[in-house]
Amino acid sequence: MRINFNVPPYTGKEMDYIKVCVENQKICGDGEFTARDNEWIEKKTGVSKCLLTTSCTHATELSALLAGIKEGDEVIMPSYTFVSTANAFVLRGAKVVFVDIRPDTMNIDENLIEAAITPRTRAIVPVHYAGVGCEMDTIMDIARRHHLLVIEDAAQGIMATYKGRALGSIGDFGNYSFHETKNYSMGEGGALLLRDQTYVDDAIIIREKGTNRTLYKLGKVDKYSWIMAGSSFLPSDMNAAYLYAQLEIADQINDARMDHWNRYYRALEPMKEAGLIELPTVPEYCVHNAHMFYIKAKDFEERAGLISYLREHDILPASHYIPLHSSAAGLKYSTFHGEDRYTTKESERLLRLPMYYSLTNDDLDEVVRRVKEYYHFS
Ligand SMILES: *Cc1c(COP(=O)(O)O)cnc(C)c1O
Repeated sequence: MRINFNVPPYTGKEMDYIKVCVENQKICGDGEFTARDNEWIEKKTGVSKCLLTTSCTHATELSALLAGIKEGDEVIMPSYTFVSTANAFVLRGAKVVFVDIRPDTMNIDENLIEAAITPRTRAIVPVHYAGVGCEMDTIMDIARRHHLLVIEDAAQGIMATYKGRALGSIGDFGNYSFHETKNYSMGEGGALLLRDQTYVDDAIIIREKGTNRTLYKLGKVDKYSWIMAGSSFLPSDMNAAYLYAQLEIADQINDARMDHWNRYYRALEPMKEAGLIELPTVPEYCVHNAHMFYIKAKDFEERAGLISYLREHDILPASHYIPLHSSAAGLKYSTFHGEDRYTTKESERLLRLPMYYSLTNDDLDEVVRRVKEYYHFS
């Protein structure tokens, strides 16, 4: 039996809820389930407004539009991230400025941000890797002093907190992903979180093709019209219904993932103590969400050997981002400020182990057994 890297979460209620949409013939965006999802996220995170979107990619593009990012602007972010973090700003004509990550959390090194700021810098985009919070106090302080916006890529961060505050709710905007590889899913989907009221009206308009259709539906204007440049970022209520089935039991899903994470950690800790591998670091003031469990091998070769070994035994691990600054598009649209001490080196040794809601202890133990076997560790 193969042990997959990811199996999308499934609760059993998804079809019932989708059926409600179909039978009520309410399948377009902003229906009952979208409203419920938004409300659930607002309650959970304390943001002024949550707007469900078609993806985290689109939530980030919506953020870039809202921020008024334009040609010549600069946006600071880590190079160790998914392409969407950078694309959203490149599409607005901005230059992406990467800074190095910290080797312990794989998050942007907050101490390198300030030196990368120029008069053209408009925003900082921290990425909460593996649902472990970036150093938001430092980042928010830098942003305040330099009048920059903070747009959190919290694609992996739902249910996780930094000093008691929900990831995605600390910066001006936060972006969640509900892709099938994330902790909660709607197939493809995401959300834009708006910390305070300032940008809410504009966000609603941009998300609805640049129109005031939402006000029209509420009976606040008698015609709807084109107000500003926008696009279509709202998902079908059928997708929102799928997500609602998962948010309803969010704690149950989170607890199961945390159990898997802790079981991996306990089982692999002796190998870490023996100096064979490294394990993830979670600062004590961060609560993570077990989005992923990774280990770090000594180097690229050792990791390559481990990947082959696990695959031979029907276990599918995954490596992660090839640093964006070294990719074809990255060379064109970005610069790396300062030295790449850790981004490339750490990315080449990190390996993600199978992690999903329905992972069984037997399968998890089998993964651990094979990792130990590869290292001849007993
Ligand atoms: C998954 C992910 C995204 C993209 O999310 P989509 O919903 O697939 O668009 C962006 N950033 C990070 C860090 C991610 O992990």
